[in-house]
Amino acid sequence: MPKFREAAEPLHILLAGSEAFPFAKTGGLGDVIGALPSALERLGHQPVVLLPAYRDIRRCGRSVEETGLRFTVPIGNKNVAGSLLRGTLPGDRVPIYFVRQDEYFDREGLYAEKNVGYQDNCERFAFFNRAVIEAIRLLDLPVDVIHCNDWHTGLLPAYLKTELRGLPRFERIASLLTIHNMEHQGEFWHWDMLLTGLDWGYFNWRQMEAYGKLNLLKTGLVFADAINTVSPRYAQEIQTPDFGCRLDGVLSSRSNDLEGIINGVDYDVWNPAVDRFLPVKYDATTVVAGKAAAKAALQAKLGLEVRADVPLLGVIGRLVEQKGVDLILAVMREWAGTANPDQHDVQWVVLGGDGDPRLGDELAQLAKQHPQRVAARIEKSEELAHLIEAASDMFLMPSRFEPCGLNQLYSLKYGTIPIVHSVGGLANTVVDASRDNLRSESATGFSFLGPTAARLEETLSRACEVYRKRPSEWAQIQQTGMLHDWSWDRSARDYVELYRRTLSKVREPQPA
Ligand code: ADP
Repeated sequence: MPKFREAAEPLHILLAGSEAFPFAKTGGLGDVIGALPSALERLGHQPVVLLPAYRDIRRCGRSVEETGLRFTVPIGNKNVAGSLLRGTLPGDRVPIYFVRQDEYFDREGLYAEKNVGYQDNCERFAFFNRAVIEAIRLLDLPVDVIHCNDWHTGLLPAYLKTELRGLPRFERIASLLTIHNMEHQGEFWHWDMLLTGLDWGYFNWRQMEAYGKLNLLKTGLVFADAINTVSPRYAQEIQTPDFGCRLDGVLSSRSNDLEGIINGVDYDVWNPAVDRFLPVKYDATTVVAGKAAAKAALQAKLGLEVRADVPLLGVIGRLVEQKGVDLILAVMREWAGTANPDQHDVQWVVLGGDGDPRLGDELAQLAKQHPQRVAARIEKSEELAHLIEAASDMFLMPSRFEPCGLNQLYSLKYGTIPIVHSVGGLANTVVDASRDNLRSESATGFSFLGPTAARLEETLSRACEVYRKRPSEWAQIQQTGMLHDWSWDRSARDYVELYRRTLSKVREPQPA
């Protein structure tokens, strides 16, 4: 395979995205952009991150300074001014630049408030994409690959392939678009095409238009040199109508340029051996005592009955249909008010910040009815998220679709056995405790096919039975999961390979 340069040569990667932990995060996308760059740097590469300067940036406790660099870009019929701030990712080795434009970004939410998306999201992110290009010029950044993430950065590959084409600074830059979730596509009415500054000629079904609307994810999918998703299984699934969210045709047409790389875990943050939120730190050799301490602490904190013997079931995530929260609620309702207290004697802890308020209300209602068995916290809390991961015996993720999923990976590290619907990244990372997998000592959790409450209940019963009656099997599943390496170093190596292959497409053009 042709290589554009020596494999040992460092790459200059510009990662552009709408979230990066710990500066601003609503979900897994933020975890990825917060951690992948440092893993790339550890491998000897030179990443730089670009992010909007949201209000959250000032609240996150890391220092950010003015660069004094200002710019103006055209957005529709206006010229909009912005400036660049500078900080570093944790570890202080990777620079992160923030695009400041207070009217667009100094707001309470990242994309929405009270579950209602900002009306001007197209304008805000068109500006951000143009600002990334200005940042390359103003900072004189050497860039081999622009690594775009989700629809918020979907215009960058289009600008590279259209108005920047042939310009000396840009012509050798390759673009990669990572899809973190097909459900969010950045769809806007057609007049927003004017905000992009691109010719109306691109507003057609092969390029920027989908079902009558401007679609910024599709734009990125069409123009990027390569595409990846955050798991190999999801990369396959989204090429089918069931999972492609109406873009399966576009994705299939690019199947030769589409692959999957499982996200990593930041083990400096998500690791029971160093976790500052736990009463007792632990690893695979001290898991029993460490989890017992966390369980007692969580039960006491949330007002549940403090009991070591009862299986504690944890749930953390956005309260949305995607995550199968309704399936969990159905089983909870049945088990919490059960006539069969022995079999269904479990405790439930749910932490869900963003999402559908009705699901939050239902959970809160159940917790009120069964305060000793159900605890629901409808808020965002890093501290509780860590404690729940450590305290729970099992972690539920019956997602209808799951591009990668991070909480099942955290669960594995914390000795908390994941119970998952076998789709997307969940299928790639959790090995079901079937007889064969137990025998070969490869099982790490319990999984099922078909997202129904009945299947979830069946699987939960199966897991509870092992928990209660076969503790040595339980310990084996726990140990296998804890010892598996899901660190970012592994994913970062895959990304480096992908960057190199993507670059060779641009710099060593293949025969048509
Ligand atoms: P998604 O990106 O689809 O929301 P992921 O599993 O990929 O789901 O990532 C979710 C991330 O957000 C995890 O780091 C999880 O711990 C975190 N998270 C979700 N809800 C909350 C919450 N209420 N409080 C704290 N962290 C949360």
